Amino acid sequence: MTHRTAPAARICPNCDGFATVAITTGSRDRHGHLPTIRANCSVCHGHGTVSARCVREGARV
Ligand SMILES: [Zn+2]
Repeated sequence: MTHRTAPAARICPNCDGFATVAITTGSRDRHGHLPTIRANCSVCHGHGTVSARCVREGARV
């Protein structure tokens, strides 16, 4: 019989822990660089984790 030794992961079910991504704006600036913007997960607000209660219940915050 096995026992869980560590508490259950509290990874955000909406983004699976990848809370922040970089998105290109689609055009290059005058230096030829491809500017990116950061977008955070709307559920966990860029933290990648949510409270254990939300994960257990499958609820979205
Ligand atoms: Zn998230």
